[in-house]
Amino acid sequence: MEQINRRKFLGVAAAAGAGIALAPTVALGSVKKIAPIVLSDTDRPALLGGPKAHPGRFPAWPVYDGAEEQALIDALKTGRWGRLDGRITPKFEEEYAKMMGMKSSLAVANGTTALYTMLGAVGVGPGDEVIIPVYTFVATYNVVVLNYALPILVDTDIDTFQIDPQKMEQAITPATKVLMPVHMGGLPANLDRIVPLAQRRNLTLIEDACQAPGSEWRGKKVGSYGIGGAFSFQSTKNLNSGEGGAITSNDEAFIETCYAFHNQGQGRRRTDTSFNPGEAGTRASNGRITEFQGAILLEQLIRQQAQDRRRRQNIEYLNKLFSEIPGITPAKLYDGVTNVSYHLYMFRYDKNHFAGMSRARFLEALRAEGVPSDAGYGDLNRSPYVTGLANNRHYLKIYGEKTMKEWMERNHCPQNDKLTSEESLWFFQTMFLGSTRDMDQIAEAVRKIQKNASQLRN
Ligand SMILES: *Cc1c(COP(=O)(O)O)cnc(C)c1O
Repeated sequence: MEQINRRKFLGVAAAAGAGIALAPTVALGSVKKIAPIVLSDTDRPALLGGPKAHPGRFPAWPVYDGAEEQALIDALKTGRWGRLDGRITPKFEEEYAKMMGMKSSLAVANGTTALYTMLGAVGVGPGDEVIIPVYTFVATYNVVVLNYALPILVDTDIDTFQIDPQKMEQAITPATKVLMPVHMGGLPANLDRIVPLAQRRNLTLIEDACQAPGSEWRGKKVGSYGIGGAFSFQSTKNLNSGEGGAITSNDEAFIETCYAFHNQGQGRRRTDTSFNPGEAGTRASNGRITEFQGAILLEQLIRQQAQDRRRRQNIEYLNKLFSEIPGITPAKLYDGVTNVSYHLYMFRYDKNHFAGMSRARFLEALRAEGVPSDAGYGDLNRSPYVTGLANNRHYLKIYGEKTMKEWMERNHCPQNDKLTSEESLWFFQTMFLGSTRDMDQIAEAVRKIQKNASQLRN
């Protein structure tokens, strides 16, 4: 049926002259003549042979020039390539803390290490529960499991794509030690609810701000509301050194504990010159960053503010365009958000406004238009990777069969199931480093697909 329609449609278009638009016209003569009605060529979806709405080339990433080149060569020539004797990383830490409006920062190997180090520094271990969102990158989950603590996955506030604070509270038990919300996509989680919750229940708050360097809640950077914030400088992230990460805190003693944890138990303020580890009874690892990463980060930090501004301008403009397209709903910001360093543009797709076309088909059509998009994270709680923990020999030994069975029940996240199975979509941050013309073309792609949804649907 669709095939026939399509062939017929293409035939008419060809007859009308290589797809050139012919609106119904009225001849000026005495005889009224109606020209055949065809879609103008630009109205035809790329998936059905029309032109792309966007040429498909978005700004390249990473962004660098001679400044990064020089910084790398300078770092090389110092001959001090590691953080233990280098002077570049401490300079970056100072600048990063300043940008964050916080007392201290510790640069580490990556964002996962930042989280793992903080959990180690506060002494999370077997028997402890850590509350995290289900809608997050798997690293948030992994760092809990690496400590043999029990990760409790909490459902999503579908309007904002963030952890649901009410369900977070309901997930607390006497075993809960840490609340670890994520600022998903760079958009802040609801800190007006989460900060008092941690205080009221005497829980440690660690912010996974890996996607949100620079985002603000009520004028203060996220990552400054808990005992510490974790940041990632992995190559896709807004601040990029290939790999890299940081911990930020206003508690300098906490930063020093983190330093010792990431440096085989040896503190920075060690006065003797021996290789003896520091405090007794703690654990440690090596999570150190290199000077090359520090050197790149110092330069990238200078670029970041302008990049963030550009992303925000483009996103605000795209939000306006999308507000006129029913069935496309960008993630809402909570009232407390004062500034966003957008890492992802998260939005919901409602197929009822697209003739029932599946999200997968919509994605296909969008990509054909030259607009790359992704369905994003799924139902982490139901993935075999996570459910397998219930049968993990060590977890069974630590928590017992009953607790692990209950754990499976506790991780039910119906809102997230709905969001991730048919609605959620992402655009990546690099798409917003271009011009407003890019935004016009993204919106045009969606409009075109919507207009032709019944033909595109299969
Ligand atoms: C990227 C990311 C991490 C991990 O950071 P890496 O630098 O890749 O180790 C953790 N949590 C979230 C939410 C992330 O997006």
